Amino acid sequence: MRRRIVAGNWKMNGSKDLVQQLVGDIREHVADLDEAVKSTLDVVIIPPALYVDSVIGCCGDALATGVQNVSQWQSGAYTGEISSGMALDLGCQYVLVGHSERRQLFAESDEVIARKVTRVLESGLTAILCVGETLEEREAGQAESIVASQVRQGLSTVSSDQWSRVVVAYEPVWAIGTGKTATAEDAQAMHAEIRGVLEQMNAPSRNISVLYGGSVKADNAAALFAEPDIDGGLIGGASLKADEFVSICRSFPVGA
Ligand code: PEP
Repeated sequence: MRRRIVAGNWKMNGSKDLVQQLVGDIREHVADLDEAVKSTLDVVIIPPALYVDSVIGCCGDALATGVQNVSQWQSGAYTGEISSGMALDLGCQYVLVGHSERRQLFAESDEVIARKVTRVLESGLTAILCVGETLEEREAGQAESIVASQVRQGLSTVSSDQWSRVVVAYEPVWAIGTGKTATAEDAQAMHAEIRGVLEQMNAPSRNISVLYGGSVKADNAAALFAEPDIDGGLIGGASLKADEFVSICRSFPVGA
């Protein structure tokens, strides 16, 4: 049975005060969730790496934590980089890899992304591989092939005992931070494609959580999460507001 996950990517936002307020509020609300919901759901906070320690201090066991990026190298003379081993050492469980902002603004190639996935998995953490097409690619009818290629390349080095620590997040680039969301039907169609690609890679595709990201809000999460292949969300802007973020966590179909 695959896990439901709602992960909040704070991007380069936050402060010591925000950590105390926001994480405290989220933790309280998550504690109030129905036991049946809590037992199937991981709520993950992914702040800037500098705040991970304070977030973990505020989270207790109620929430999981991640970092937004790690180095493709294990350790050494790579000024400014942080390693997946360090994220593990701090107490993180998750690492985002290949977010479209990393691909576009920091020129991360599929090859570099695959190396980062390797580092994350060998350190014992869970990798959330982000994939998604641009608007031009969608309009050119290339969305499926681009996403399939990103999944194949990004996960090319995963060994059979590591699939249980792989999550895929489908995030159409045109939906990130724009207020435009894929329709639940279009997102479901792409998630089914992704599961098909995982199957072809001999991955246990039914057990791998596939999240949707791109302007998910309290008012559209329920429609997305009702789809059979959408196992939760990667949330940007809405993860910075406790009420909105927790409403998203409450948006899974009851009894499913
Ligand atoms: C993201 O940054 O991964 C994201 C989905 O952002 P937003 O929810 O703001 O579109």
